[in-house]
Parts: sequence; C-alpha cells; structure tokens
Amino acid sequence: MKVLKFGGTSVGSAQNIKKVIDILQKESLSNPLVCVVSAVGGITDKLLEAGALAKQKDKKYKTVFDKIKTIHYKVIEELTPDSTTIKKEVDTKFEDLEQLLNGIFLINELSPKTSDKLVSFGELLSSFIIAKTMENMGLNTIIKNSQELIVTNSNFTKAEVIYDVTNKNIIDYFNQATQQVTILPGFVSKSHLGEITTLGRGGSDFTAAIIAAALKVEQLEIWTDVSGMYTTNPKLVKQAYPINNLSYQEAMELSHFGAKVLYPPTVQPVLNLAIPIHIKNTLHPEANGTVISNQNNGSDLTVKGISHIDKVALFTLEGSGMVGIPGFSKRLFETLASEKINIIFITQASSEHSICFGIDEGNAETAELAINNTFENEISLHKINPIIVEKGLSIIALIGDNMKSHQGISGKLFSTLGKNNINVRAIAQGASEKNISAVINNNDVSKALNSLHERFFEVNTKQLNVFITGIGNVGEKLIDQIHQQHNFLKKNLKLDVKIVGMANSRKMIFNPKGIDLNNWASQFHHADKSSIEGFYQKVIELNLRNSIFVDVTADKDVAAVYENYLKQSVAVVACNKIACSDKYANYKNLQDLSLKYNASFLYETNVGAGLPIINTLNNLVASGDKVISIQAVLSGSLNFVFNNFSDKKNFHDTVKQAQFEGYTEPDPRIDLSGIDVARKILILARENGIPMEIEDIVNDSFLTKSNLESTSVDNFYDTLIEEEPHFQKLYADAKANNCQLKYVAEYKNGKAKVGLQQIPEGHPFYNLEGKDNIVMFYTQRYPEQPLIVKGAGAGADVTASGLFADIIRIANK
Ligand code: ADP
Ligand code: ASP
Ligand code: MG
Repeated sequence: MKVLKFGGTSVGSAQNIKKVIDILQKESLSNPLVCVVSAVGGITDKLLEAGALAKQKDKKYKTVFDKIKTIHYKVIEELTPDSTTIKKEVDTKFEDLEQLLNGIFLINELSPKTSDKLVSFGELLSSFIIAKTMENMGLNTIIKNSQELIVTNSNFTKAEVIYDVTNKNIIDYFNQATQQVTILPGFVSKSHLGEITTLGRGGSDFTAAIIAAALKVEQLEIWTDVSGMYTTNPKLVKQAYPINNLSYQEAMELSHFGAKVLYPPTVQPVLNLAIPIHIKNTLHPEANGTVISNQNNGSDLTVKGISHIDKVALFTLEGSGMVGIPGFSKRLFETLASEKINIIFITQASSEHSICFGIDEGNAETAELAINNTFENEISLHKINPIIVEKGLSIIALIGDNMKSHQGISGKLFSTLGKNNINVRAIAQGASEKNISAVINNNDVSKALNSLHERFFEVNTKQLNVFITGIGNVGEKLIDQIHQQHNFLKKNLKLDVKIVGMANSRKMIFNPKGIDLNNWASQFHHADKSSIEGFYQKVIELNLRNSIFVDVTADKDVAAVYENYLKQSVAVVACNKIACSDKYANYKNLQDLSLKYNASFLYETNVGAGLPIINTLNNLVASGDKVISIQAVLSGSLNFVFNNFSDKKNFHDTVKQAQFEGYTEPDPRIDLSGIDVARKILILARENGIPMEIEDIVNDSFLTKSNLESTSVDNFYDTLIEEEPHFQKLYADAKANNCQLKYVAEYKNGKAKVGLQQIPEGHPFYNLEGKDNIVMFYTQRYPEQPLIVKGAGAGADVTASGLFADIIRIANK
C-alpha cells in the first residue's frame, strides 16, 4: 500500500486533476492507494479572507464567497460532462458555508474554532469532487472523511494529534476497506470532543504522513508543483535545482526554516518507521523528485540546501540581572509557551548578559507584552532592560548533515553576505551543526539566497548585474560587446554577465532578469524618464548581488554619486575622468570607500582608453617596483592635430577636421589647452601614490593668449586663424631641428608637467601615428629600457573594451 498526497496546485484546475487521476490510475494497478488531497489551490486563503471580511462586517465577503463557488463550479464543469449531480451535492456544502459566513457577519466574531470550521470546507469540497469524478469514471474509489479518523486536542488552527486513538481508527478503517483507491481530505481533523480542528497551514502533508505511519506503508509520496525539494526556493533563485536525496534531519531542518514544499511536522510520524518520503511533481511525473530517507545518499555535498523564513521579529533581552541566575531562560520560554508562541531561533551570549530569539512577526506584540509582564519586577529594579523588538527581518539557514565535518562553511557564508553588503543581525548554529542560520533584513533575502546559492551550489558560475549610464557611442559598443561575448564568457569564464539597467540623460530601463540584448534599442526607445538619483534608487532597490555601476558619461553629476554606490557595496567602473581628476580628497575618499565596502572602483579607461596603463602601473607599484619617471603622449586628439598640421595645411583647418572626425571634445579647447592630458598624468601620479592636485601640474600651453582668452568655440576658431603665423613658427622650428611636434606629459620625482615638445628622430614618440597613445614607465626594474604601453588611445570600440575588461576584472576578484 502507498500513501499519496496531492497539493493545492495539483488539484487546482480540472486539467491538473485529470493528471492526478492519471497518476492514481497507473499506480493503483500494482498497489492499493490512499490519496490525500489539499483544497483547490488558493481556496484556503480565500476562505480566510471571506471570514475576515465577514467578521469586519464588510459585505464584500459575499463576493469572495461567490468567487469560491465559481472556482469550484468551473473545475466540476470541466471535469465531468454531466456535472449537474455533482453540483447539486456540492451545493448543499456551499449552503452550509454561506450560513457559516452569514453567522460570522452577524455576530461580528471569528474565533479560532469557527475559523477551523470555515477552512475545513476547502479540503471537504476538493476531496468530494475528485472522488465523485473517479467514481463516475467507473474507478474503484471511495471517499473517507479524515475527520472520522484523525483525533486531536482542541488547539484550534494547529491541533496536536492524539496518536493512539488516531492510529487505531486508521488501522481499523483500512483493515476493512476494499477499494483500490481511497480519497481523503487533508488538513482536517476532529478533537476528542468532536469539534472540527485543523493541523496547521500546509497540514495536508501531515495528514498523509499520519496515515502512512499508522498503516506502515512502504512509501509516502508528496505530489506538488515543483520537482522535489530544491537547493533553495525555486521561486526566488532561478538556478536552484532539485536535491536527489535528503536525510530526514536535513528535510526537517529545511522545512522548518521555510522550505514550504514540505510541512515541517510531516517527517515525525514516518521517521521512526523509516518510511521514505518521495516528493514528486504532478505536472512532470517523469522527473526524479527528491527521496527523503535514512539511506546514505552518496552525495558529497556538504551544504544540501538553503532556506529562509520571512517576517521574523528579533527579541533581545539584556541586563546584568540575568547573569548566573538559574531559571531565567525557563521563565522566559514558559512565558512564550503559555502564549502558544513558537520560537524559531535562539542565541545566547556566553556572558549570559543577553539572550536573543526570533519569532513570527505576527506574534510580536503579544510576546512583548507578556515578557515585559513576567519580568516587570526585574525591569523596575533596572536589573534587566525592557525587551528590544526588531521587525522586518528574515532568517536564512544553510542545512546539511555533513557540515559538521567541514571547516570554513560559516566563513564562506559570512564572507559572501559581507561582500554583498548584507548586514547580519544575529547568528545561530545548532549544536548538531546540521544548520547555521543568520538573521538579516527582509529586503536582503533574495540577494542573500542568490549569492549563497551561487557560492555553495554553482561554484562554477558567477552572475554579474551591470547597470550602464550613458548610452552614447561608447555605451552602445559596450552593450554590443557584452551581448556578443555572453555565451563565450558563460562557457569559458563561467561568468553570466547581465545588463540589468540602462540609462542616458533622458530615459532609463530595468529588467532584474537581464535586459534582452537582441532588441534593447527598441525597449530603450519606449523607456521611462530618467534621473541620476532615480537610477541610483532603482539599483539599490533591486539589491542584486555583484551589482556593477558603469559610468560612460562625462558628467560631473554622475561622478558625484559614485560615493553612494560604493557605500552600498555596488562596484563602480568609469571612463568618466571627473571623479579621479577632481580634488585629491575626493579621489582618496572613493579609494577608501572602495576598500571599506569591499566594492571595486575601476577606471582603466581614464587614461589611454582600452590600453592597460593604470593596471600596469598598479602592478608595478604593488609588486614593489619604484617609478622613476613616466613619459607619455596621452592625447589622441592632439596627436591627430600635430600629425596632420604642416606648412601646407593650416592649423585652423586641421583642428576643424579633428573635430569633424570626432577626435576632439565638442569644445576643442579642452583638448588643445592640454587640460585633458593634465588630468590623465594627474591620475597616473595619484596611482603612483602622490597626493597631487591639478593646479600642481605645470601646463606650458602652446596656445597664444588670445586663443586662451577666447569667449566661445567660434571665437576660438577665429583666434586660430589670426594666430596662424604663431603655429607655423612652431612647425618650422621643429622641422628645422628635424623633429616632430608631440604633446607630451611627464612625471618625475613627484612633479608633473604637460606641453608641446620637439621630438627628434629615433625617439619612441617620433613615429607615433594617428590617435595612438604611448606611455613609457622608467622604474627601478626598467631603468634604461622603459616598459612601454602603446596603441590606439581613443575610439568607441577600444574604450568599450577597456570598460568591459574592468567589469570582468571585478568578477575575478
Ligand atoms: P502544495 O500546495 O503542493 O502543498 P506548496 O505551495 O505548499 O505546495 O509547496 C510548494 C512550493 O514550495 C513551491 O512551489 C515553492 O514555491 C516552495 N518552496 C520553498 N522552498 C522550496 C524548496 N527548497 N524546494 C522546493 N520548493 C520550495
Ligand atoms: N489547504 C491547506 C492550506 O492551504 C492545507 C494544505 O494545502 O496543505 O494551508
Ligand atoms: Mg504544501
């Protein structure tokens, strides 16, 4: 004989009930079956909702009642061609239900006892409909009301089973039953006084386990809407997967800590008899599911699952009056027991100075009152403080029988939470070491589960959640590159890079699952209005693990929010130079925040676009080398200008062409004045550990006074024409010396300067072409032959690839 239980979704529609009947038909060929069913999915909640409305004298309870009726009618009509007889019988049940609701409405009261009567309709209806349908199909089926078998105490809404009477009832009944399939409602029971009771929310699993144990069957099957007990809640973590085997203890811990797929008390009755529990999926009967048993499951996984409980209140009782006083905890826990409050979590400091425990948030007020009452005397004598209550918390727990024989699990747990900026409010580890739990904020749960799942179960893949601001030339290229490399990175580097947010100054879009990069542009076209603050708020609200903010703008207001991102442990990648070339104090502050909050701040593209200049310098410094000097050509724009300008082509036209071809900033004065180059050498000096300001950099401008004093871009161009002789002279002087003109940045002995120089033939700068950049590092290890980095130092493609490299560098940290 076998016991099978089908949950709310499994009996939630005619289509699914047909699947249930299929399964029963197949399995009953070889075995007599006991089949326990839940209420039609969502009905228990609706019954409670109707009850609550009626109690509040809100007539809307009638609408909810009608809805309950319609749902059942629909199921019946779709199940049976001739539904009138079933409907007729069901109608008498609905009349009773309606009367009960009317009564609640009239007396304005809903006691736990009445509530149990009310919710029992759900299972009574579903079991009746299924049994009748099977009977009509000519199957050898009978319905038995479990209220006639399962006897409990009068603890309404979560009654305790009186096993001796219950077991006898079950054995006696099934001894004489001859049908191949017996259908019973789950969840419902009766007290020894004959009152209707229930076994607690989710209790149909328990009904099935009670019957399985009484009959000592070979197997208990729990059929539900997922393919077993998963490594963590599959609704919250997409990558979760079913666990093949679990021990009873592991299953109990997981369900106790919130894995709703199994009602926690279910394990108890079958545990001593070693009856295996098989969790199966009604919608995919072919899937293996999870077997819970005593068998050594052969799995070498230390952590088997991660679960969580929402809406926990944390209570802390503190005070010197607690130390060394026996019976203190006893009084505390007795107080809670007398209020029937279940404790989920306890931890006590070894000094006994404080005790901390977690309970369901819904019981917080009652518990607070009761405890302050119990300890009224001690509180008034200031021996202990009034109890502290914190709400809005959740518990997450790592579960596994083998955790006790492995070091470093809690280390991994807390470092993963820490890295993701998840604050841990309290910690507990069971003495059996089958479970380590931590209390965190409700709004960190999804991030915690996802990052812990990644850490313990997907050792191989890491998801990066990227938020890009600045969807211009470079931004678009970056999106294309991420799109194009997605599969490569996933396969070869085990990185899953998702772009979750995109914004420019006008619009922004988000998709926590990752924006579809096949048609991002059209989605962006229809996007919401954006703001820098709004974008930031959304990133924080989404609270995703491994979040990276990428700044592809040149906007000072965007640079001003890096600080906020870093403080929330969101990494920052920027090609925007403003933050790093601003006041030294600001640069330093960002570096410090990056260290403090363990959030990377990378800006390789600030100097030489995609060329590995900053990274090379960082590696030299980190490995103990000392920089003697840096000489560099760092402006693609100026390089273009001086490579094209000659006695045959005037300066004005050359600059115009450079601007036309996109080599200069919209205001070419930023490039020509040398400011941009000065910012770059400033950043290199700072990376070398020198606390320098932009004013400390000697800028020996090659522009004339009138160029520099120009009042607008147009006016600047006019002055270039006027000053043509000046530029021709620069050219002629260089030519006479057989030199090329290059705009050079130099750093030496803590000092830096930028300016135009005549470069003789044979010098590495002499043949520098197009928009190329070059940097020469003279160091103690490279004293004569410098370490040279050279290549294209501007352009959307290379800048995007530099940003991309920074993103990947963060992943590898
Ligand atoms: P039923 O109505 O069949 O009893 P439940 O809704 O009570 O189903 O339980 C199944 C649900 O449990 C799943 O749909 C899933 O959302 C939730 N769940 C939470 N944690 C887990 C887990 N670790 N494994 C599987 N399901 C889980
Ligand atoms: N119908 C009840 C509930 O929703 C019992 C169950 O489904 O297990 O809690
Ligand atoms: Mg359930």
